[in-house]
Amino acid sequence: MDWQKLINEEKMIERRHWLHMHPEVAFHEYETSRYIEEALREMNIEVIRPTETGVLGIIRGKKPGKTVALRADIDALPIQEEAEVSYKSLNKGVMHACGHDTHTAMLLAAAEVLSQITDEIEGSVKLIFQHAEELSPGGAKQIMDTGCLNDVSMFYGSHIMTPFEKGKVFIGKGPMMAAQNLFEITIQGKGAHGSTPQESIDSITVGSSVIMNLNTIVSRNIDAFDTAVISYGEFSSGKVFNVIPDTAFISGTVRTHSAETRAFIEKRIKEVVGFTCKGFGAEYEINYVEGYPPLVNDEIPANIAENVASAVLGRENVMPARKVMASEDFAYYGEIAPSVFVFIGGGDDKDGCKYVSHHPKFTVADEAMLTGAKMYIGFALEALRQSG
Ligand code: MN
Repeated sequence: MDWQKLINEEKMIERRHWLHMHPEVAFHEYETSRYIEEALREMNIEVIRPTETGVLGIIRGKKPGKTVALRADIDALPIQEEAEVSYKSLNKGVMHACGHDTHTAMLLAAAEVLSQITDEIEGSVKLIFQHAEELSPGGAKQIMDTGCLNDVSMFYGSHIMTPFEKGKVFIGKGPMMAAQNLFEITIQGKGAHGSTPQESIDSITVGSSVIMNLNTIVSRNIDAFDTAVISYGEFSSGKVFNVIPDTAFISGTVRTHSAETRAFIEKRIKEVVGFTCKGFGAEYEINYVEGYPPLVNDEIPANIAENVASAVLGRENVMPARKVMASEDFAYYGEIAPSVFVFIGGGDDKDGCKYVSHHPKFTVADEAMLTGAKMYIGFALEALRQSG
């Protein structure tokens, strides 16, 4: 495939370094989106701004056909960088610790190639440079709600992963990433002196029981072949050693892979908290917040991704993907049309990439991006060819 020769790897690395040095957090990607828009305009690609900091590029092929969308997320994280790289973040307390700088650079490199081969494109390619992946409610839903993706017949997205061998792509079918919900439980008991527990409704004991009982949901109510996680991030109550506090606060996260299990756990959490508190005579309040939906790879686009990867990278570089309990707002695009989300090896120990994303020492090997750029281009061309 001769389009591979058109990929400007040097430029892609240069862009990645610039983006890495100028990270911006979710919903504040002003410089980043300006940079992307300028790069696309230089390639003579049509640009629209569906949201304040999101960018959509549109490449119209010379042949008729459907529309395929390629997505890269562009936001960084509120983390102070500790990685020893020459292109270290210049923005204090902000870092591209999830590799979205590489996603953006890879999609720009793909855009540059696709804009040169419109003769071969059977339909249109929409390039989604999506803001705010890292912060719920996320940018995907906002961009979708403008209607600018209603004509898309297939979505493709990818995420760089470390420590995963570079040059490899990891593809799976069915549920791949988890739905995320968060809950906050406030328990209202009755305070008393530590010497007279009979006068109290001890919110610490009630809260502890709530947590122990909630822990039975995954172990006793969920099928062993299903996947679910309930974790607590905060449990606070009391201040003084001899005072029984009147309130306790618990917050946590729920991860599931199916809509049914997601709904079931919400129902069970509310029941268990309710009955446990009632048993002690305590009052309670639950704030249950819906996060991103489960990310499910559809059969047809997943097959296309596999075929493209085999043809372009070689069969030995196509690996099965293991599903994870992390979540991604790419999942929303699946509500419009079939979609696939793959993982790109970002480098491992050999490349000095031993930290996972969101770690202050997280790094990605520059050379790993070539694989991701090839997958973007190959997927767009092949998906349009097959749906024409
Ligand atoms: Mn990410």
